[in-house]
Amino acid sequence: MKVTVLGAGLIGVATAYYLWRDGYDVEVLERNDDAACETSYANAGLVSASRALPWPTPSAHRTIWRALTDINASMRIIKPLDPRLWKWGGEFLSYATESEFERLARAKLAFAKFCQDQLQATLAQTGVECGYRQNGLLYVCKSIAAFEAARARAKLVASHGYEVRMLSRAEAIALEPSLRNSDFVGASFAVSDAQGDSRAFTRALVRYLQARGVKFRFGVQIDAALSVVDRGYTIYANSEEQHADKFVVALGPRSYHFAKQMSLKLPLYPVKGFSLTVPIKDRSRAPTRGGICEDTLVAYCPLGDTMRLTTGAHFAGDDTTFTDHDFIAHHESFESLFPGALDWSDESKIERWACLRPMTPSSLPIITTTVDRFGDGTLIWNCGHGHIGWTMCCGSGKVAADLVAERSPEFALNQLQKA
Ligand SMILES: Cc1cc2nc3c(=O)[nH]c(=O)nc-3n(C[C@H](O)[C@H](O)[C@H](O)COP(=O)(O)OP(=O)(O)OC[C@H]3O[C@@H](n4cnc5c(N)ncnc54)[C@H](O)[C@@H]3O)c2cc1C
Repeated sequence: MKVTVLGAGLIGVATAYYLWRDGYDVEVLERNDDAACETSYANAGLVSASRALPWPTPSAHRTIWRALTDINASMRIIKPLDPRLWKWGGEFLSYATESEFERLARAKLAFAKFCQDQLQATLAQTGVECGYRQNGLLYVCKSIAAFEAARARAKLVASHGYEVRMLSRAEAIALEPSLRNSDFVGASFAVSDAQGDSRAFTRALVRYLQARGVKFRFGVQIDAALSVVDRGYTIYANSEEQHADKFVVALGPRSYHFAKQMSLKLPLYPVKGFSLTVPIKDRSRAPTRGGICEDTLVAYCPLGDTMRLTTGAHFAGDDTTFTDHDFIAHHESFESLFPGALDWSDESKIERWACLRPMTPSSLPIITTTVDRFGDGTLIWNCGHGHIGWTMCCGSGKVAADLVAERSPEFALNQLQKA
């Protein structure tokens, strides 16, 4: 049986791995010349299962107001009149209640744990190298308000089986001595969270699969069309019709446009994030593990000789452009935590990047056999992983492979569906 995976980001390649393990003839199509060239290219690298919390919260109205009015907020609504955003936003707000938050958090935290276990098993089974380390992640609080919010979050996730320790300033410095020069209140330490380079993971897994007969076709533009006569769909690669027993759609944020070509409406909005990779100058001043500044929401992660810094959530449609202003927060926030650790002197060695998180209104991924009433079970969707697709790639690939095989998924998918 032939299964074609559309898209070679984290999600498509992880899905291809599980399909290959199930013994299918697997082919992966991708428009770029390599895997992980878009959203999976330069994310923060945090395998932060303990942060798998839904974006719609009971205080979402305040966040939205700030996103509309404060140009320095990390979340910003740049295109407030976008009809697609209105539709997405309406559904988002329908989840912004105590009871929905609790339900979504339970589902998302449980799924993230399952996914991290799958990621670790995949790394062990394949020997793929991506600098994965399960050393815990440190969430640093500069203000008392952030520390109290972190304490509440630690309590919430503890009730879902995550160990998160609240650390005083002295305890945080004992764990991460490079924080000694920073002015901060305390931190939370998520013991089982991990880190790794998602681009290295994806590309090494491609090589592993290629060596075992999985076909990757790069430089291929994928499109779809719905027949008005029989309502059947056709998938094209560089305008040529594709034939397979099943297709898995893992086109990240572009899954929305692909679905639209079939007259399907996927509840996805692209949320732009900004990523900076800077050489490390002084290791004694740099953090030894990844984390997030809770006040600025700047994530940082040491990856080899560089530090990855990411932040920002801009609702700006499909636009992936950026300006210097988009990276001020990265610089200021990191320098205030770890002054003098990075080499900012040579622009040519600093990499700037912006990409789109494929966000659903509930912030749960879409992993389902086609939702369309005309669907014949040959189309499986695996997209919408938003801010946490690195953490969730392998569990999602496993569930998608279960759907392809028409067996009961190892993780109960009904937990992820709308109530
Ligand atoms: C700034 C930032 C920081 C993040 N940090 C973290 C983190 O620390 N931890 C974490 O768990 N997650 C993080 N994420 C989220 C994570 O990176 C994403 O959820 C994940 O990369 C999504 O993977 P994907 O495979 O769905 O999408 P993509 O990586 O975009 O893959 C989709 C692929 O489909 C291809 N494609 C699309 N359309 C077509 C077409 N028409 N024809 C052919 N090919 C096509 C694209 O080229 C692409 O390669 C972060 C995201 C951002 C933006």
